[in-house]
Amino acid sequence: MHNLSGQKLISLDRAHVWHPYSAMGSEHPVYPVVSATGVRLTLADGRELIDGMSSWWCAIHGYNHPVMNRALQVQMENMAHVMFGGLTHPPAIELAQQLVALTPEPLQTVFFADSGSVAVEVAMKMAIQYWHAKGQPGKQRFVTLRHGYHGDTFAAMSVCDPVTGMHTLFSDVLTQQFFVDAPECRFGEPCTDAHIASLMQTLETEHQHIAALILEPIVQGTGGMRFYSADYLKKARALCDEYGVLLIFDEIATGFGRTGKLFACEYADTAPDILCLGKSLTGGYLTLAATLATNDIAETISAGEPGLFMHGPTFMANPLACAAGLASLQILLDSPWQQNVQRIARGLEDGLASCRSLDPVADVRVLGAIGVVELHHPVEMKTLQPRFVDAGVWVRPFGKLIYLMPPFIIEEEDLSTLTQAVTGIVANL
Ligand SMILES: *Cc1c(COP(=O)(O)O)cnc(C)c1O
Repeated sequence: MHNLSGQKLISLDRAHVWHPYSAMGSEHPVYPVVSATGVRLTLADGRELIDGMSSWWCAIHGYNHPVMNRALQVQMENMAHVMFGGLTHPPAIELAQQLVALTPEPLQTVFFADSGSVAVEVAMKMAIQYWHAKGQPGKQRFVTLRHGYHGDTFAAMSVCDPVTGMHTLFSDVLTQQFFVDAPECRFGEPCTDAHIASLMQTLETEHQHIAALILEPIVQGTGGMRFYSADYLKKARALCDEYGVLLIFDEIATGFGRTGKLFACEYADTAPDILCLGKSLTGGYLTLAATLATNDIAETISAGEPGLFMHGPTFMANPLACAAGLASLQILLDSPWQQNVQRIARGLEDGLASCRSLDPVADVRVLGAIGVVELHHPVEMKTLQPRFVDAGVWVRPFGKLIYLMPPFIIEEEDLSTLTQAVTGIVANL
């Protein structure tokens, strides 16, 4: 089965397989990967690439981790899957308990979902059901920040940046939400009243229609890789309380240590009413996400009409995925992850510093294990991607952004290969 040559794989892929945000029949390169270990991906032609992406924030412990592999083998021998309606199982219970223990104190209940986008859908449905149960069914819309990204399903899309989220294409099916200016106060700087004025005005005039504010705390990821002030979150929390609007934090990208804190909201010492987790939750092994909520939300929904929360995916709390989540948390918490993330931050800072003086570069910024080189103009992926591969690294830029977020286990030398590849390629744009 897996004996097709690299060329054959590529031609079959071109004929039949869609890739994320792609066109069928495009000339963009696509590289068959046959295995991955530690921070290295092995291509079908035998080349090895150092992974600078953690497979989109997920593979925080690297690939083919023996503890992860073992945990999945053990779980597989017990059961790979069982329905979650009317049944429960140890991996789901233990993972829920751990998530509750690790996240801000008010969050006490866990709804497992199969992907980040679905976790966001669930969070939005919870917010609407909460207000419905409280006798305020008019609160069904959401306020969010420009440059945000919350996923690709319809409700999640409706709160993505209206420009980069292609809202015009789907205008008849997307709910019109309220967009406020993205925070201009950078990470580490104070947030003035002017910085939050746009949010304040919208809440003041529209709060009776708004179920919740949804945002990515500290790091706006796919919508622009922007790092912003923790004070903004504190002020947003206070405004939500003042205007009777729930607060949803989407930590699908930032959760589990990436920013230097276990959860980015810890920078602001601020808790949301609802929290979405995903991506690195299973250490990059299987798709799993979770939506956590306070007891107030759980009790209000459960006591109101129709007395149930109206969602239940077929693969809810898949035991293999939950076992992967438990193993990943154990590896993370047993590791010196804070030191690793700080070490990566220093390596990214040092390694990318020389980009600052290059003509194509608008900004270089690092937070935790995230390094971003923002250019003045969008890159041409088709020509750029092969140059990274030729340099022996896996880096996938988008738009004006070239960014690195390697697995936490990456060593000094591999990290510097990554930063040198970025610096060298940007210097020759
Ligand atoms: C990736 C991402 C999502 C969507 O998760 P999927 O698993 O791709 O559906 C939602 N929110 C944020 C912040 C993300 O980074």
